[in-house]
Amino acid sequence: MTIDYQDLYVGGGWSQPAGDSVIPVISPATEERIGSVPEGTEADIDSAVTSARIAFDDPAGWAAWEPAQRARALEAFAAQLQERGEETARRVSSQNGMPITLARQFEAGFPAMLLLYYGQLVANQLDDVRPGMLGGSTVVTKSPIGVVGAIVPWNVPQAITFLKIAPALAAGCTVVLKPSPETVLDAFLMAEAAIAAGLPPGVLNVVPGGRELGAYLVSHPGIDKVSFTGSTGAGRDIARTCGELLRPVTLELGGKSAAIVLDDAQLSENLESFFGATLLNNGQICWLGTRVLAPRSRYAEIVDTITALAKGIVVGDPLAETTQMGPLVSARQRDRVEGFIEKGRSDGGRITTGGGRPGDRGWFVEPTIVADVDPGHTIAREEIFGPVLSVIPYTDEAEAVAIANGSNYGLGGSVWTADPERGARFARRIATGSIGVNGYVNDPTAPFGGIKSSGMGRELGPEGLSGYQYAKSIYLDVR
Ligand code: NAD
Repeated sequence: MTIDYQDLYVGGGWSQPAGDSVIPVISPATEERIGSVPEGTEADIDSAVTSARIAFDDPAGWAAWEPAQRARALEAFAAQLQERGEETARRVSSQNGMPITLARQFEAGFPAMLLLYYGQLVANQLDDVRPGMLGGSTVVTKSPIGVVGAIVPWNVPQAITFLKIAPALAAGCTVVLKPSPETVLDAFLMAEAAIAAGLPPGVLNVVPGGRELGAYLVSHPGIDKVSFTGSTGAGRDIARTCGELLRPVTLELGGKSAAIVLDDAQLSENLESFFGATLLNNGQICWLGTRVLAPRSRYAEIVDTITALAKGIVVGDPLAETTQMGPLVSARQRDRVEGFIEKGRSDGGRITTGGGRPGDRGWFVEPTIVADVDPGHTIAREEIFGPVLSVIPYTDEAEAVAIANGSNYGLGGSVWTADPERGARFARRIATGSIGVNGYVNDPTAPFGGIKSSGMGRELGPEGLSGYQYAKSIYLDVR
């Protein structure tokens, strides 16, 4: 049975699309069609932005509600999402190949958690009253920034959607969301949850489509803020448009983070965490540490350990409970990843395991380890977005820091050591937006985001809220 939608979520309910083309959804594991949604057009974006604009400008509407009232509405939304958690996880796995056990964690659990977190954060946010240096005092208030255009990728679609819409809605903004064409069925289930929760009309709208539709949303005159997660190339285009329009923008882009194994690391005791920090979600997460830096003093042993880890990964049907790695999202993505593996080999890398295709159905690539990679090789510099780790040798800590920081990106990373204090000291020397010691897990209360070509702005934590608010100073007792 396929899942097929006929209408779009615009203006608080199901609304007929302006065009008649559809986005088919294909399972990357079976290559079969599993559903479809209407493809949004510019006219649909116009309607969605108009609805979001009316909802935002309503003097008694969402933006004017007490924050606690919005928090209650978000609690209701969270409850509806939780009811649909298992179905959300299954839809995501079926569309992008994410192992179901991971989808339950990331895609079923995280969105509701973020709605509750940001609802409370805004409900407890107080005006800041400051004694003025020149006499009098100033009240610094936070106002919602307006109508938000949110554009998300396919790799962790629900969690990434809520990194944006949870703080945006809590702040009092209204949102037009454009999901990626590969992962739309989860976005429409989210719309069902929003309708069931009684979210007021226009507060949230979903219009799926490709990059042209995304570009149309970014430059739309009715939008006040753009929040984008995706590739660095698309991020540059969006930054250009937003620069011209002087439109605030948050950009979460690509990465090529380092997993630095220090000379005292006991990697074999930490393999599950190492897998989580380097190969999770079939290698399709922006913050993964895909450059493994290994000390020459223990190089052969570390390559062997990582190779054994990769060989032991259970690859298969993403919906199976035991699967640790599913297929890549599309044939195009698989071809791209295979191209990088070939480039790694021809540049002089040594493939210790993987490199091929397991089975003859689905867009799978074997977990692949490439040893003896030079920091200048293409596979050490460019984001692959697949289950491929490059192992790079280093001599001492100074060289490890130089290699780790010698990247155009700066998003995630990890340090592996028997001495967590040494790990924390080392982590401070790495130029990146976030880094873990003996593991990597995003903390919802702490800012996440990139430096350099990995993006601008932060999501999660109070920092993630500030992207959807502007500060206003009200000067009192001024003479
Ligand atoms: P992509 O840039 O091709 O597409 C992302 C989204 O943007 C899609 O919805 C797409 O339709 C839309 N889009 C593409 N070009 C656009 C444009 N010029 N204007 C407006 N919208 C546009 O990326 P992808 O292949 O879907 O996702 C993988 C990339 O996302 C990787 O580079 C990965 O590192 C990055 N990513 C980053 C983070 C992060 O938090 N930093 C998280 C997840 C993924």
